[in-house]
Amino acid sequence: MNAFYFTSLQSAAYPDRQSYKMKKKPFWETKTLEEMSDTEWESLCDGCGRCCLNKLEDWETGEIYWTDIGCELLDCETCRCRDYANRQDIVPDCIRLTPEQVRTITWLPPTCAYRRIRDGQGLHPWHPLVSGDPQSVHRAGISVRGRAVPDTGITPENYEDHLVDWPDEGWEPENSK
Ligand code: SF4
Ligand code: SF4
Repeated sequence: MNAFYFTSLQSAAYPDRQSYKMKKKPFWETKTLEEMSDTEWESLCDGCGRCCLNKLEDWETGEIYWTDIGCELLDCETCRCRDYANRQDIVPDCIRLTPEQVRTITWLPPTCAYRRIRDGQGLHPWHPLVSGDPQSVHRAGISVRGRAVPDTGITPENYEDHLVDWPDEGWEPENSK
């Protein structure tokens, strides 16, 4: 495979739980991606860490292949970026997700909340905005916790030993419903 690797993004925070409990429609059901405030936007990230796995792209076909190798800043236990504020200084390939990016990028994982809202789908019960618990994304088996490995010592020649299909289409753990 002719390939190179690249990485992407993640974010944080959990507001609007109160409106959800009071049966008022929460922002993710009433606003488009473009209409969300910065705080709402950041809170939409479920903290799964899947987009922070290194990927390979076939130069000839454009096909994306997922690996279980975390970006150098990914904490594989918390599934969070270890320096979110300065991430793009350290990892220039990290993509700062915007509504436009969400509408353009083809490889966002099928569980990604940005992608789901883009596609008119709701959030899963395990999403922290719905559950009120940031750990629910891990309990549901959605996040990379326990499955991703740090990139330390892994060279591009070894990448093909780390190919995985679980971040991609058609994959969903039994307890994710
Ligand atoms: S720099 Fe941080 S946010 Fe960007 S891909 Fe790496 S771990 Fe994820
Ligand atoms: S895949 Fe989507 S929801 Fe998961 S960490 Fe990345 S941006 Fe956040």
